[in-house]
Order: sequence, then structure tokens, then C-alpha cells
Amino acid sequence: MADCFFCRSKSSGESYYPRVSFNGKVFRYLKCGECGLVFISPSLDERDLAVLYALDYHDEFYFKSAPDHPALPRLFRRFLQPGSLLDYGCGDGSFLRSAAGAGMQLYGAEYNPGLVEKLQGLYPQMRFITVDRLRDYESAFDVIHLGDVLEHLCEPSPALANVHRALKPGGFLFIQGPLEHNFHLTWLLFGFYLRFRKALRPSRIIEARPFHVLYANRKNQLAFLRRANFELVQHEIVEWNWPFPARWKEADTLKQKLQYCTVALSRTISSIVPGWGNRLYYVGRKAD
Ligand SMILES: [Zn+2]
Repeated sequence: MADCFFCRSKSSGESYYPRVSFNGKVFRYLKCGECGLVFISPSLDERDLAVLYALDYHDEFYFKSAPDHPALPRLFRRFLQPGSLLDYGCGDGSFLRSAAGAGMQLYGAEYNPGLVEKLQGLYPQMRFITVDRLRDYESAFDVIHLGDVLEHLCEPSPALANVHRALKPGGFLFIQGPLEHNFHLTWLLFGFYLRFRKALRPSRIIEARPFHVLYANRKNQLAFLRRANFELVQHEIVEWNWPFPARWKEADTLKQKLQYCTVALSRTISSIVPGWGNRLYYVGRKAD
């Protein structure tokens, strides 16, 4: 079996998530027997990534529709100070725009060179690079932010090693993003449904674009960051509605109304129970 993206264990088996057909191939989601991470197999190759992250990806998901969570969460504001900030996987630049008042030198890194060029044209006062150029930076940044990035990486360890190297000693790492396999009511119910579908037809294949290649939980993601030599400073877990309707009036069908009610109840419970929810805000510090 394939190595777990987080702990490198080979003890994985197929999870209850359906198989995905994309770019002429079939991908499975395996679950690690050691740390419980759910991850894609086989890994996406360069050709898959080029199709997934063509320029229209950011138009579709960011430039034309704003995410429903704050670009610069309250937790992070407390750790901004004059210095330099890199947004690794900066998308449409919304996090950098939100941080513009903090008096920091702002840098953005993106995978697609066309997007880097577009961003540099839009924001000439900031500096944009492609992610592979991060190798050239050592102890260069006071803060590095990864917003909705980790879940897209088939090789998160080398990416985090580059981030670690690029941070100044004692520099801060901000991470925000989904914990799609973390405990909360919606996940539990959706899991039952997916298990049932898998039992009926184990080889079911759906057509989809596998943007998210790993589904983490609180425990395995924090352990992964510790192994990458980041010391936890503070973290919060909250629950967002995504991918279900956020408002009653957005729920048109009976199915969507049920989803809305389930998510509303689930969010209420997660706001009371520590550790439950589907989105992580993390502040860590570079350890030696
Ligand atoms: Zn693992």
C-alpha cells in the first residue's frame, strides 16, 4: 500500500470515500492504519496538477466567489507585527489584502506562473513568486501563512520543510484550512451514508476533480506539524457549513433543507464541544 502523506506508514486500506475518475485515471482514498489520515492513491502527477490548477481554478473558486470564512482570522491578527509575511498558496491575494494594514512587507507564492504574473500586475506593491522558488529563501520571513493549502498537497512534508527553512528563527506559521475527517455531527452522519453506499457497491466511481488529496483530523494534523518542527502556540477549531447551504433561503430542495438543518445543529454542538468541527486555525512557531 502507498505511504501515508503524514506519517509515512504503509499500513493503509481503502476508506469509505468513493473512488474518483479524473484525467483518464481512477483514484482511491486510503485510510492510514497508524494516524487515521485519509489520502489519495495514486498521488497526482504533474499532468494531473496542470489540469486541476489551470488558471480558471482561481477564477472559479476565488476571484468570482468569496469563501465564507474570514480572510484574516482574529487569532492571526494578534501575531502580526512589522516584518515580512509570505502567503504560501495566496490564491487571489485576499489574505494579503487583509494583512495590508499591518505594516509588513507582503509576499505571495503560487503554483501557476500565469497566476503569479496576473497577481504581480494587480498588486505591484507586493512581491509574487512561484512556489518552487521558495527554495531560494532561507530565514527570510517573520510569518508564513498557508490558507486552504495543505489539503491540496500530495507531498506535504517537503513543502513544510521548505516553509520551515524560509522562516526566520522563532518566526510564526499560520495555518487555516479544513479538517475533513475530524469529529463533528455532520461528518458522522455523512460517514454513515458513505459507508452504506460503499457496502452496496464497493467499486462505485464518481466523476470529480480531486482538489483535496488528504482529509485530516485534529490529532494527526497537529502531530504532523510537530514532526515538521513547529511548536504549537495556539489553535482553534470551528465548523463551517461547506459544502452544504449556509442559509435557509439558499436551500431550494428538501434535501438541501435537511442538509441546512443538520449543519446548523452540528455547528451549534461544535461551538460548545472543544475539538469538534471541520476547520482549523493554527499558530505555530519555528522550532530548531
Ligand atoms: Zn499516517
